[in-house]
Amino acid sequence: MTGVDFLVNTSTSKGYKLNLQTGLFINNEFVAGAKTIDTVNPATGEVIASVQAAEKKQVDDAVDAAENAFNNVWSKTTPQERQRLINKLADLIERDTEELAQIETLDNGKGISMSRNVDVPGIVASLRYYAGFADKVHGKTIDTPGAFSYTRHEAIGVCAAIIPWNFPLMMLGWKLGPCLATGNVIIVKTSELTPLSALKVATLAKEAGFPPGVINIITGYGAEAGDALARHQKVGKVAFTGSTLVGRLIMKAAAESNLKKVTLELGGKSPNIIFDDADLDKAVRWAHFGIFFNHGQCCCAGSRVYVQEGIYDKFLEKFKERTEQTRVGDPFDETTFQGPQISQTQYDRIMGYIEQGKTEGATVYAGGSRHGDKGYFIQPTIFTDATPKMKIVQEEIFGPVVVITKFKDTEEVIKLAHDTTYGLAAAVFTENVTRAVEVSNRLEAGTVWVNCYNQLDTSSPFGGYRQSGIGRENGEYALDNYLQVKTVKININRDV
Ligand code: NAD
Ligand code: MG
Repeated sequence: MTGVDFLVNTSTSKGYKLNLQTGLFINNEFVAGAKTIDTVNPATGEVIASVQAAEKKQVDDAVDAAENAFNNVWSKTTPQERQRLINKLADLIERDTEELAQIETLDNGKGISMSRNVDVPGIVASLRYYAGFADKVHGKTIDTPGAFSYTRHEAIGVCAAIIPWNFPLMMLGWKLGPCLATGNVIIVKTSELTPLSALKVATLAKEAGFPPGVINIITGYGAEAGDALARHQKVGKVAFTGSTLVGRLIMKAAAESNLKKVTLELGGKSPNIIFDDADLDKAVRWAHFGIFFNHGQCCCAGSRVYVQEGIYDKFLEKFKERTEQTRVGDPFDETTFQGPQISQTQYDRIMGYIEQGKTEGATVYAGGSRHGDKGYFIQPTIFTDATPKMKIVQEEIFGPVVVITKFKDTEEVIKLAHDTTYGLAAAVFTENVTRAVEVSNRLEAGTVWVNCYNQLDTSSPFGGYRQSGIGRENGEYALDNYLQVKTVKININRDV
């Protein structure tokens, strides 16, 4: 389709005017998809815009564009030029922080102050961190008998990223940064629930001067566009963030096609352990932030809180008080902490877990119901009296629901902490440094926070033990996901 710009005008509940891009971004152009998908404002349930959605044909187009860009342009640019472009994109995103924050809040429902202070700075930080690595990707020389040997750390080429809806901009940054800095090209499939902010980033990638085909951003349903990417013969690597269920499908699709490299950042049911000697007020604040940040829609959410018996009653009382003060409401209100859940489906799922918890015999100690009369808001909810095998203790709810359980000693709590299939994150609250280190060492989790929660940054690796994933994102470790190592041996004095 030529002559169509796919731009849609809208404005937020506070009157901020937006001109939204809704095309598929392939080869630096916005193009039509096979169909359209409505994206909804979760605070109201109203449609914001219809976006173009990819199926196999558009995925093929994006992969062809990427392959062409890699072979003919990107693999020939210098690391310094790649670094300059990635930094330029970060600068443009920072310049347009307000517009991007407004889009993110409209499409996802997170509080505007979160979008401004966490999500937009998050993608900027990722891009700048990895831009710094672009000219520092190199191999080693190895002393071998009779030969001069060295390694080259080479780009894979065409990479794909499939990202979720809970942090649309940040997840985009976590994928774009290391992928581009190591000299690869990329096709990103955004979540069909939150496609809008990444399309704004696409316009900025073009403005920054990225050559056509280096960055392609498409949306579409997981089973269509996502699956087509995961099983594409020309895609050399797929990086996925989302549910464990879909993570398995991604691995299967890779296995059934070309054995592309796979990294998975999946779900969790993270334990937050609070010992008797913790600073109680601080522990209450962090534990509240640990579960209710982003409305509980965090893969690393501290959804199982274990409190030692000596402070259990006091903790519970203070935690309830803080929970009932959580500011739930219009995400465009500057003081809102908790906005709506992402969709009707997620709303129903979470309410289903709350009902299940009650049926299985746990106690709703606070919340447990819908908040307000429109949109997908749920009261921050506390369960007590739960037992280890209940669904609300075992499964990722991905909503504002926490289970608080009493424990006696370290041995008991470590056992409880490990009694799920996950291992993404954990936390320990104690003023005793020996206990902090000993318990952290024993916890099977990719990240352990001590006396804090949800503290992520671009330089510290993040990823899962057990069924919470494969590979690490962030930090220097993430570079390996996008590189392959070649050994070159030059004979010096050997003969056969
Ligand atoms: P999901 O795993 O279904 O979706 C994540 C991404 O994968 C989306 O872009 C989706 O379109 C895509 N996808 C879905 N099916 C696919 C397939 N067959 N092949 C390829 N791609 C596919 O997650 P969801 O439905 O948005 O949420 C469901 C649950 O997933 C949540 O309740 C939560 O437990 C979990 N989740 C975890 C994270 C995380 O950060 N770890 C993020 C979002 C959701
Ligand atoms: Mg939406």
